[in-house]
Amino acid sequence: MTAPCPHPTRTDGVCDACGDCIHDVILNGACFYCGTTEIDPHAVSPKKLPEVISPDRLVRKK
Ligand SMILES: [Zn+2]
Ligand SMILES: [Zn+2]
Repeated sequence: MTAPCPHPTRTDGVCDACGDCIHDVILNGACFYCGTTEIDPHAVSPKKLPEVISPDRLVRKK
């Protein structure tokens, strides 16, 4: 279990300083922000999953 990094500044859940990701948004088993699929299911609460992804977020994906 990795603790979130101590840096205060994050862009879309990814730390500006060290690139640490909180995996705040999981889509299809992969992190929406960093793209990793190696996410500990126990570390990510299903309750945190948004029921609806706003369209402006969807278009951000290349
Ligand atoms: Zn950091
Ligand atoms: Zn991530």
